[in-house]
Amino acid sequence: MRVVVTGGAGFVGSHLCERLLAAGHQVHCLDNLLSGRAENVSALSRQSGFAFEQVDVSERCDVIGPVDAVLHFASPASPVDYLRHPLATLRVGSRGTENALELARQKQARFLLASTSEVYGDPEVSPQPESYWGQVNPIGPRSVYDEAKRFAEAITFAYRRSQAVDTRVVRIFNTYGPRMRPNDGRVVSNFIVQALSGEDLTVYGDGSQTRSLCYVSDLVAGIIAVLEQAPEAPGASGPINLGNPVEMTVEAIARLVLELAGGRSRIVRRPLPEDDPKRRCPDIRRAQRLLGWTPQVAARDGLERTIAFFRAELAAAAPVAAALGGRA
Ligand code: UDP
Repeated sequence: MRVVVTGGAGFVGSHLCERLLAAGHQVHCLDNLLSGRAENVSALSRQSGFAFEQVDVSERCDVIGPVDAVLHFASPASPVDYLRHPLATLRVGSRGTENALELARQKQARFLLASTSEVYGDPEVSPQPESYWGQVNPIGPRSVYDEAKRFAEAITFAYRRSQAVDTRVVRIFNTYGPRMRPNDGRVVSNFIVQALSGEDLTVYGDGSQTRSLCYVSDLVAGIIAVLEQAPEAPGASGPINLGNPVEMTVEAIARLVLELAGGRSRIVRRPLPEDDPKRRCPDIRRAQRLLGWTPQVAARDGLERTIAFFRAELAAAAPVAAALGGRA
């Protein structure tokens, strides 16, 4: 297959490109590098089946030649990123999704939308099944992401119904692993970088809010399984939750990172961000039944691998930081 991946230089997108290439597909990656990084795909660029184009898919999303699948992963996804770029986030969820769907329609390609557990907002039911419609504050600060993704789901289903595009929607729950940016502001990257730098771990609120952490290789395996489903397979359109159902409090995540990373950091409290969801846990029975997919990597194991990645990143950055500091 020839696959277009929007947001292919991002954290999840780059792992997806890598897996698709390894499976023998050709990959055309589109990314405006707002939250993605060119170095995420620099190793892939040396492979003949890979092409990278720096472009904002909210403005244009066209590719020359045949395309078999369009995977729409372009969007800021960390709260810190989407709060910093509210309009770009709304644009890529709306215009960007429409442009990517148009590409799929013109090329008669399959379309897969990276949606999110944020469509459930601050949920009143837990775990969250796909049948739950969510509780989103439409004017709160997080709405730029939540409502953009809800719109993205709506337009994807409208293209399916009115334009006969073969579409799929996955709802991604908190994912972590190598290639997260050290400063992306998310809970796992923050805690690991803080622990490795000897800084205090910043738990927001009382730390009793929960998240369910999915290691990136598990997520990518689920995405590929959804992509490969035959159009006539039951439930192929989704939406389908992809996440690890092991629910942890943020306080417990902080303690586990401290235990695994070592060091002498303490846990400190910081204010809880507005509309921060109190519970988040995927009901993955649909994915288990339809795809035979279940996450394999336990938090302890995945966090160890992610800590090793950040240790190397920080070590590589240290001489540069020292040199810059020396010049200043
Ligand atoms: N969080 C925290 N300390 C941090 C970063 C995040 O306590 O340094 C909390 C945050 O308030 C939320 C959870 O961890 O309850 C997950 O936050 P993240 O930004 O990773 O993503 P979210 O799941 O909210 O989209």
